[in-house]
Amino acid sequence: MKQYLMALDQGTTSSRCVIFDRNGNTVASASKEFTQYFPQVGWVEHDAEEIWQSQLYCAREALKRSGLAPTDIAGIGITNQRETTVVWEKGTGKPICPAIVWQCRRTAARCEALVADGKAEMIREKTGLKPDAYFSATKLEWILTHVEGARERAERGELLFGTVDSFLIYRLTGGSVHATDPSNAARTLLFNIHTMQWDAELLQLFHIPAAMLPKVLPSCGIFGETDTSLLGAPIPVAGVAGDQQAALFGQCCFERGMVKNTYGTGGFLLMNTGDTAVSSESGLLTTVGWQIGDQVTYVLEGSVFVCGAAIQWLRDGLGILGSAAESEALAASVPDTGNVCFVPALTGLGTPYWDPYARGTIVGISRGTTRAHIVRATLEAMALQTVDLLDAMQKDAGADIPALRVDGGACANNLLLQMQSDFSNLPIVRPACIETTALGAANLAGLAVGVFGSLTEIAENIAVERTFTPEMDEAAREKKLLDWHRAVQRAQQWAAD
Ligand code: ADP
Repeated sequence: MKQYLMALDQGTTSSRCVIFDRNGNTVASASKEFTQYFPQVGWVEHDAEEIWQSQLYCAREALKRSGLAPTDIAGIGITNQRETTVVWEKGTGKPICPAIVWQCRRTAARCEALVADGKAEMIREKTGLKPDAYFSATKLEWILTHVEGARERAERGELLFGTVDSFLIYRLTGGSVHATDPSNAARTLLFNIHTMQWDAELLQLFHIPAAMLPKVLPSCGIFGETDTSLLGAPIPVAGVAGDQQAALFGQCCFERGMVKNTYGTGGFLLMNTGDTAVSSESGLLTTVGWQIGDQVTYVLEGSVFVCGAAIQWLRDGLGILGSAAESEALAASVPDTGNVCFVPALTGLGTPYWDPYARGTIVGISRGTTRAHIVRATLEAMALQTVDLLDAMQKDAGADIPALRVDGGACANNLLLQMQSDFSNLPIVRPACIETTALGAANLAGLAVGVFGSLTEIAENIAVERTFTPEMDEAAREKKLLDWHRAVQRAQQWAAD
């Protein structure tokens, strides 16, 4: 029986392919960066054709390195940068313009107008999201308005829209399948997460012709087969989920109340809320985790914009670090931050503050402050921002969080995870495989094609590499949080005047 699974992990800066065996071990992988385009201040674009080529290259390269035959691969799972918007020709599969990336702020004014127009509540009720330029709808509307002839062609049924998963499925299946999954559809601002359908009122609000939308299929199931010419054999595309939801699945957070945090460029905390779409009072998003059969799992999501990126800034902007990994030893060379507190609001603040006008702020500097104190304060901030997300989540979910599972590049930092445990007073669990995004996509596919018989079988694979437990006393924790919130207040609204 075929036992290997291929994950296509299409990220914001690179495409990756990882091949796993049935026990979740990595057999081979390959990755390739692609071009980032910044045509104007605040605009971010990708070339969808280059994304496809880089992803195909990685799949072929990983397969070659694994020494496996294409017929050994039981199924392909796709996970992807979310919200990024692609429009392509139905006939040729060619994109009609650059893809508008989730980070792109070109439609911010349109979103502010929607809020001023009183649409925010209706949008939140239906989609679980905010009217923000982050999500796909206003990007798609922008393309239909600004690319010559696009609206007429879309209305004639000649153009297709999709997030990156959808575009990859289209290409992988030789143009025969136009589909997406609910975890991606739920990020468009066009999908009603309660009825689990594209929403007519929202399509009208954003002037989107229904004919260009992909079919929404369960995250775990057969979407189609790859065109034989691509990988040498037809392979079922059998699992699809957006990157953060795939990481939650890869962390085996299958039960209601289970939580994971990813420490990447940004930080993303997701909680499984089971079959209930929990509406947030604390600035979290309500979204779909995955759909298996007709069973939908919902999640609450909190995001911090700058997490590991703050370490990048110390390295590349300030030049006080040679590498990201160096931050651990340097921060550990001092016993504390010497009262320095850094709020890394370099691009504003996300959950729970949602303040686009907040800016990075370092307070408490004295004559004795060294770069080690600044670096230590940066790691503390990465943990403290996550405490704010955890607090918001506990409030909304009305339940205590028992433990936090972690992944992402910066979770290699032991000091950071000890701080996280201390500041949040929770056990922090780091799995052996921190490629959780790719693993989640592979496991969704594995469940669909029968490599796994149940979620329980998947969970048997998870191995914990290390657990961090709290060592800080209550008074010190309270003081730390108090100082953090005082510093956040000083960062808020800085750029508003
Ligand atoms: P993404 O997938 O968002 O591009 P990764 O999950 O690869 O990001 O994580 C990379 C981020 O983690 C970078 O911002 C980097 O500065 C940070 N990082 C990597 N290693 C460490 C480390 N040992 N300590 C602190 N931060 C780190």
